Amino acid sequence: MSKSESYDVLIVGAGFAGVHQLVNIRKLGLTAKILEAGSDLAGTWFWNKYPGARVDSPMPIYQFSDPDLWKDWTFSEYYPDWKEIQAYFQYVDKKLGIKQDVSFNSRVVSAHWDDSVDRWTVTSEDGRIFQAQFLSLCTGIASRYHMPEIKGIDKFKGEVHHTSRWPEKYDFEGKKVGVIGTGATGVQVIQELAPVVAHLTVFQRTPNLALPMKQRKMSAEEQQKLKDEWYTILFGRRYQTFSGFPHDLVPKPIAETTVEERALMFEDLWEKGGFHFWLGTYTELFTNQKFNKEAYAFWRKKVRERIPDPELQEKLAPMESPHPFGVKRPSLEQKYFEVYSRQNVTLVDISKNSIEEIIPNGLKTSDGVEYEMDVLVLATGFDMVTGGITSIDIRGQDGISIKDKWSDGVRSYLGVASATYPNMFWIYGPQSPSSFTNGPSSIVSTTFVFFYVLTLTRHDTGTDERMDHQLCETYEGEWHLQHSPYGGSPICLQ
Ligand code: NAP
Repeated sequence: MSKSESYDVLIVGAGFAGVHQLVNIRKLGLTAKILEAGSDLAGTWFWNKYPGARVDSPMPIYQFSDPDLWKDWTFSEYYPDWKEIQAYFQYVDKKLGIKQDVSFNSRVVSAHWDDSVDRWTVTSEDGRIFQAQFLSLCTGIASRYHMPEIKGIDKFKGEVHHTSRWPEKYDFEGKKVGVIGTGATGVQVIQELAPVVAHLTVFQRTPNLALPMKQRKMSAEEQQKLKDEWYTILFGRRYQTFSGFPHDLVPKPIAETTVEERALMFEDLWEKGGFHFWLGTYTELFTNQKFNKEAYAFWRKKVRERIPDPELQEKLAPMESPHPFGVKRPSLEQKYFEVYSRQNVTLVDISKNSIEEIIPNGLKTSDGVEYEMDVLVLATGFDMVTGGITSIDIRGQDGISIKDKWSDGVRSYLGVASATYPNMFWIYGPQSPSSFTNGPSSIVSTTFVFFYVLTLTRHDTGTDERMDHQLCETYEGEWHLQHSPYGGSPICLQ
């Protein structure tokens, strides 16, 4: 048996959450190590390098709030792409020496709690063993990618790429490309590939109710103004809004508004772009079906204006909404709806004629039509939110794996901890506000629970005790009940 390494805290994952934890644990004078499956920093931005991959939160709040970091860094666009976010992580490392405390290429496969020593024993895929008093799971919400089981996929003669495992080198010019999936990833990769490839066939099961991103370049003057005046205000504001974005929902009851007032509000939010139309509107978007339909009708009108063909209009922005607007995090698009009017793009509605099988030179749908392809892109998403945690064999005091414990639904205390898994916390995971906020805001505002316990157990009492999980078990039931099926948020339409 190999010798184990021992730390106060073991962190799993080197994205925004993991790096934030490491920096703050160091400040407490404790020892910590990050175990990261990838070969570099950046978490989701290390893996998701497909063409067009970019963040859906504006740069002022999609970064660390430490003035030592923002004072010397500039982003070139309001919504930075993966290359710039990777470069940002390299910059953070240069400033703070993050990598010295990261073990890369270290996928964690198990974590077992030992009651007799009050320690976690963590094992990596290559057999190394680590021990720690605390375990911090910073595995993100989208770390386990989803490969759909489609008949015949192994017989395909062309290339198959999942967007989350994109090849370093690729050349699609002059090729026939098919994309399955029209989520946020699908939208980004479709609008990027369409002008480059010979032909693009998009297989859509559910239309995407995407909002205009309104991307723009950031001038040197604008960045300086942020540094001189706005960063401290914006970072402070994150704690005061529902979503952690600087804009907030408007609590005014719809019954007290007029049609004209709402129409002007919609127009104003639409022009601002990004998530304003979603998380800057009236709060009743999430509780009032009639108002939700009004918002959808506005979205549909705006989108249909950009699609000349009536058949395409119905496929992309149907009269009947596929789901209430905004209960699913909307995607942000740039020219996405115009893409389908191109001569070299075909949209296939697989909710009507489903995918039957992949054939050696393409894909066949249930109506017998064959679509020829040289490359198949799977923008089919992830084992979202829980996958990063349940894919690790985590066993607590009673020896039950967390996967089994959560087999009929997640139970947590405040979306950060679970009873019978002592001294284990997760950040930006199940039942945290992840789907309705942006990563850094959510990470900073939920991490305090972990640091509170860490400080109490290690500093105030000076003991090696574990957190009281009897308390946790009592309250996690209540947190569970407050959560609706919609994105793990305690809200739902009535
Ligand atoms: P996703 O939202 O889960 O979308 C997956 C897509 O694949 C959906 O259109 C889904 O159709 C389709 N699909 C899955 N399995 C299929 C099958 N067997 N046959 C046909 N279609 C299938 O995944 P994602 O787009 O990768 O996004 C995942 C998360 O990452 C989201 O929360 C998103 O907001 C986030 N994200 C954020 C950014 C950003 O910050 N800009 C970028 C990308 C992703 P159905 O909808 O019908 O199930």
